[in-house]
Amino acid sequence: MLPLPRQLSTQARLAFAWRPRPRAVIVPWFLKTMGLQIFNTRTRRVEPFKPLDPSGRRVGMYCCGPTVYDYGHIGNFRTFVFADLVRRYLEFRGYEVRHVMNITDVEDKIIRGVRETGLSLQEYTSRYEKAFWEDAAALHLLTPHCRPRAAEHIGEIIKLVQRLMERGFAYKAPDGSVYFSIERYCRAGHRYGQLLNLDLDQLRPGARVSSDEYAKDAAADFALWKARSPEDGEVYWESPWGEGRPGWHIECSAMSMKYLGPSFDLHLGGEDLIFPHHEDEIAQSEGAELQPSGRPFVNYWLHGAHLLVEGRKMSKSLGNFFTLRDLLAQGFAGREIRFLLLSAHYRDPLNFTLQGLRAARGALERLDDCLQSLREIAGDAEAEPQPEPLDRFTAAMDENLNVSAGWAAVFDWVREQNRAIREGRLTPNQAAAALAAWRRLDSVWGLGEPEEKVPEEILALARERQEARKARDFQRADAIREELLRRGWRVEDTPKGPRVKRN
Ligand SMILES: [Zn+2]
Repeated sequence: MLPLPRQLSTQARLAFAWRPRPRAVIVPWFLKTMGLQIFNTRTRRVEPFKPLDPSGRRVGMYCCGPTVYDYGHIGNFRTFVFADLVRRYLEFRGYEVRHVMNITDVEDKIIRGVRETGLSLQEYTSRYEKAFWEDAAALHLLTPHCRPRAAEHIGEIIKLVQRLMERGFAYKAPDGSVYFSIERYCRAGHRYGQLLNLDLDQLRPGARVSSDEYAKDAAADFALWKARSPEDGEVYWESPWGEGRPGWHIECSAMSMKYLGPSFDLHLGGEDLIFPHHEDEIAQSEGAELQPSGRPFVNYWLHGAHLLVEGRKMSKSLGNFFTLRDLLAQGFAGREIRFLLLSAHYRDPLNFTLQGLRAARGALERLDDCLQSLREIAGDAEAEPQPEPLDRFTAAMDENLNVSAGWAAVFDWVREQNRAIREGRLTPNQAAAALAAWRRLDSVWGLGEPEEKVPEEILALARERQEARKARDFQRADAIREELLRRGWRVEDTPKGPRVKRN
C-alpha cells in the first residue's frame, strides 16, 4: 500500500544508512513537568511539544495515507495505529486536533491494476478505499477529519507545480515531464536533507536512476508531473505541460498545505517514507515559499518503525504476509490486533507473531474480566475518575509515548482492583471511579468493549438455517429461527451474510 521509494539504488542506500536511533533518551527533570515530549526526526531530539497555534490548543496533523491498489497489510496498519495513538493522546492532553490523511489513488501500481482489470480508475480504487475504511474501523481508528483523494486535487497540484516553475525550482524536460531541481533549490539557500544527512555529491548527475527518467538534469531530481505514456491508458489529466499525471510526492505537499496551511505542527508516516518521500515533500513545500518567515513546512516529523512478522521482513514468498483481513478471518478481533500493535514503542521494531496475538488475547481477557467485575459492583453508581492510574499513565506517555510504561500502569492497576474485588472492599462508588478512570485511559488505547462470543452450538444452528434457506426449505429455516429466539439469539441477514446477535 505505501509503496517503496521508486528511485532506489543511490537513494535507497542513503536511506538505509539512516540509523540515528538513541536507545535511552534521558529527559532532564525540569522537562518532566512540561507536558508531552516527542522525538522529532527533523532535529533528531526529544523536544517539548508546542503547537504553532498562539492559544496553544489547536494542532494540525498530517499522516501519509494508503495507496489504494490492494488490501492493507498488517505493516501498513502499524503506521495508522501509531498515528491514531498520537491523535488520541493529544486529545487526551486537551489539544484540539485536525487530522488529515490523504488517499493515494493515482500511482504506478494503481495504473497497472486499472490496465489489467479494465476498470475505470475510480471503480478500481474505490473498492480498495472502501476496504481500507472497513479495516480501519475494525482497528478502532478514529476517522480523520479530512480524507482528500489525490485524483480530486489535480488543480491544486498543478498550481503548486506552476509556482515551483515560477520560482525557478522546477523545469520541464524534453519528454514533457516536470522535475524538481535539487541543485537550484539549494543554490537559493534552501536545505535538502533536513530529515537525514545526505551526501549531495552522491546525488549529482551521473548514474541515471531509471530508464524512464532519462530526461532529468540530475539523478536526484524527482518528478512533479509525469508526461502521459501509452501504459497510462485513460489515466491522465490536461496540464500546462501537456497530458500527464502528478508524481506521488507532490500529492502530499498540495493536500497537506491545502487543509492545514503552509506551516503546520505534525507530519507522520512510516520510517520507510523518510527518504525520498518526506524529504521531497519538504523541498516542494518550502520551495513554494508560502510559509511565514522563519517557519518550516512541518514543525515535528514523527516516524514509526518497521514491523517484522515471525521475526522476518514480511513477504509473500516467505508466507508471513498478512493482510488485516487474513487475521480477522482467522478469528482474531480487531482490538486484539490493535493491542498487539500498540505493545511496542513506535520507534522500536515490533515482531508480530500469531503467538503474540494469542498472548494479547489472554492479556485482554484479564482486563475485560476486571472491568466486568467492576461494572457488577458499581451498578448504577457514578463517580469522578480515580486519579492514580491516570497520573502514572500520563507521566509515561508524556515521555515520547512510552507505551510500555503506560501498559505497566494499566496492568498494575488491574492487579490492585482485582485484589480489592477479591477482598470485598470496593464500594459501588469506588468501582464507578475505577471505571471512569478506565474510560479516560481507553480514550487513548481505543480497545473498546469485547465483542460478545457466540457459543458454537448457536453458530451451528445459524449455519443450518442458512443451508435450509439456500435449499429453499423456508419452513425449516423459520423453525430454526424460532429455536434461536427461544435460546435468546436472533439472526440478522446483512449484505455480508447472516449475523447472530443476542436478542
Ligand atoms: Zn505522503
